[in-house]
Amino acid sequence: AAKGGGRNRFSYFTPTLQVAALNRMRLTNDLRGALKGGQLALYFQPIVHLRTGRIHKAEALIRWNHPQRGMVSPLEFIPLAEASGLIIDIGAWVLRESVQWVRRWRREHHPEFQVSVNQSPLEFQREDGSYQAWLGELQALDLPGQSVVVEITEGLLLDANSAVSNKLLQLRDAGIQVALDDFGTGYSSLSYLKKFDIDYLKIDRSFTRNLAPDSSDMALSDAIIVMAHKLGLRVIAEGVETAEQRDLLAAAGCDYGQGYLFAPPMPAEQFDALLKAPVQEAAPAHAPQPHSH
Ligand code: C2E
Ligand code: MG
Ligand code: MG
Ligand code: MG
Repeated sequence: AAKGGGRNRFSYFTPTLQVAALNRMRLTNDLRGALKGGQLALYFQPIVHLRTGRIHKAEALIRWNHPQRGMVSPLEFIPLAEASGLIIDIGAWVLRESVQWVRRWRREHHPEFQVSVNQSPLEFQREDGSYQAWLGELQALDLPGQSVVVEITEGLLLDANSAVSNKLLQLRDAGIQVALDDFGTGYSSLSYLKKFDIDYLKIDRSFTRNLAPDSSDMALSDAIIVMAHKLGLRVIAEGVETAEQRDLLAAAGCDYGQGYLFAPPMPAEQFDALLKAPVQEAAPAHAPQPHSH
């Protein structure tokens, strides 16, 4: 839109922009200390198998507890981490933490437990030793690659360069699975689904939000699920907040659900306790109430 408007169409030094830039600079500086200062935490959110209600997977989601500002959203600080290069150290920390927890949950909860970790494009494309070190860590702990799923977004595959293809092949070799996050929001080019080896599609929560019988989002979700299954992928629906959404997704054959209906992201210790809690059987739909009033 700015094209043809000339260089001087915008004033870059309006007070609001200055404040925003200053804010970003300060926050980036604080982020530098956050890792060492123990202000980062890894939360986990269950990924629920819809047919059985079982929890054999979780997504790791980073949290920053800023000493003055309180919880800062990853939507705010991950871009800063990327721009400053801090994402490399932060990503390495996320992987290390995830591996420790998945080891425990494989031992104590289910032998095939998996933890999903998010990787931003910059992180994913980087060719460096930290990644090899992390693969080494998995091996040292005797953990198979299948313990971990890496979540990437469509954009990365759309303009996939050799670094991206190589990384995907490396993951494949190590047995690590790949999930396509926020599916349906980016680009509607589906050709990469046959080009790359993807294991999971995560239906973006913008589809889940408006699910209703006969709605267009229901039609789209149905189609995504059928297509994914024909290609041999499993489907995870994001942002499941109501029982109706869960039931519609289950009826459409969706494999897994993730969302506030089941549980929000929570500290690892709390997630650990959730796994140890006795299985909550879903109440039969027409069960009589114990006491009628
Ligand atoms: P994402 O990977 O798509 O993660 C799902 C987001 O949806 C999370 O936001 C989660 O808290 C939120 N969510 C889960 N269930 C519900 C629900 O029922 N309703 C609604 N409205 N939201 C729900 P969060 O934790 O704020 O993370 C935001 C994004 O930040 C993530 O989106 C991911 O792209 C990025 N991110 C988080 N952790 C990391 C990380 O360790 N590394 C990198 N590179 N990115 C991360
Ligand atoms: Mg994700
Ligand atoms: Mg997502
Ligand atoms: Mg998302």
